[in-house]
Amino acid sequence: MPSDNDEGRRDDVDVAASRWAWAEVDVDALRHNVGSLTRAVSPSHVRAVVKADGYGHGAVTAARAALDAGAAGLCVALVQEGVELRAAGIDAPILVLTEQPPEQLDSLAAAGLEATAYRLDHVDALAAAATRVGAVVSVHLKIDSGMQRVGAAPDLIASLVDAVRSSDSLRLGGVFTHLAVADEPEHRATAEQLATFDAALGSLGDADLPAVHAANSAGALAAPSARRSFVRLGIAMYGISPGPDVDHLVADLRPALALKARVSYVKQVDAGTHVSYGWRHRFDRDTTVATVPIGYADGVPRRLGTLPDAPGFDVLIGGRRCPIVGVVTMDQLVVDVRDAPVTIGDEVVLIGRQGEHEIRAEHWAERLGTIGYEIVCGISARVPRRVVGGGHR
Ligand SMILES: *Cc1c(COP(=O)(O)O)cnc(C)c1O
Repeated sequence: MPSDNDEGRRDDVDVAASRWAWAEVDVDALRHNVGSLTRAVSPSHVRAVVKADGYGHGAVTAARAALDAGAAGLCVALVQEGVELRAAGIDAPILVLTEQPPEQLDSLAAAGLEATAYRLDHVDALAAAATRVGAVVSVHLKIDSGMQRVGAAPDLIASLVDAVRSSDSLRLGGVFTHLAVADEPEHRATAEQLATFDAALGSLGDADLPAVHAANSAGALAAPSARRSFVRLGIAMYGISPGPDVDHLVADLRPALALKARVSYVKQVDAGTHVSYGWRHRFDRDTTVATVPIGYADGVPRRLGTLPDAPGFDVLIGGRRCPIVGVVTMDQLVVDVRDAPVTIGDEVVLIGRQGEHEIRAEHWAERLGTIGYEIVCGISARVPRRVVGGGHR
């Protein structure tokens, strides 16, 4: 059904016509998820994490949907990602989640992005950039409470706060940390990290902190004490579970991305013949196969169809599950459709719903020994994104 989507592009301009493989991004699902999560974490607020092109969903689409549904701001990984949102006219607060290369700091300041810092040198570099650009930069100081990736040692936080507060061109935006094991609610790490974080905050005495934040999606869902001023909500807003142990907490959320294609070729094959590179699959009976023009260059992992000891992974065609046979190639894969009446142009659902069946990014992830995040972030720029839902505005 044609509709105006959030970017003012018309989605009846059929992006799927540019090639027979596309991703559908459902604005209604994004809004539903952010709305539901905003209510769940209240009185904490939600900052939507739209790094990595909105986890493959399109950063601008995801950002607009999140803000429409009540998100108080956004988070990104790179200055460039924040600049892209500003260029699209988005004026909400945008926090860049790590320290950035010195060469990027003028752009950060000029775009009015919020910075993260955890080293005194970086605070100085931010102050210099803000002065050059004639801006005041909001700085969020990050404490490493146990992730051991980036962040200041807890006993450095007081000197960082002083450094930010002593600069006329900087403003303290908040103090935060990041949880390493929040997707395993029974694990002791989250309580230990929050205790370390709280001790560091306590060392600041009565310093009046504008914002304190700690939770990612899993923390926001599973650890109410991690919610604080706002939660940094990524994967859950896209309707994907942070991990199997918290699946039950996302039951109300809707996957926002579907990956689809059309059958490009159909042929009969004889028992005893083989298919695709390496001839890894041998047909044990006469059957019909359909070729689907999507492959690992699009983000369908090469081994999805050929894990040792596991039969082919399914796609949906004509409302039926059909296994991928042989290795996925760069641009195409082959499916065994048996006696189903499949013809060129038929819709193939790789992720999403068709008829009674649903295949989720989490199913791919379980199969491949990874997490849903890697699946959706891996859908490459070569796959056109078709924005659906959102209604007329
Ligand atoms: C990516 C990221 C998030 C979002 O994590 P999800 O698990 O996707 O919710 C939050 N905080 C930081 C620092 C991040 O890098």
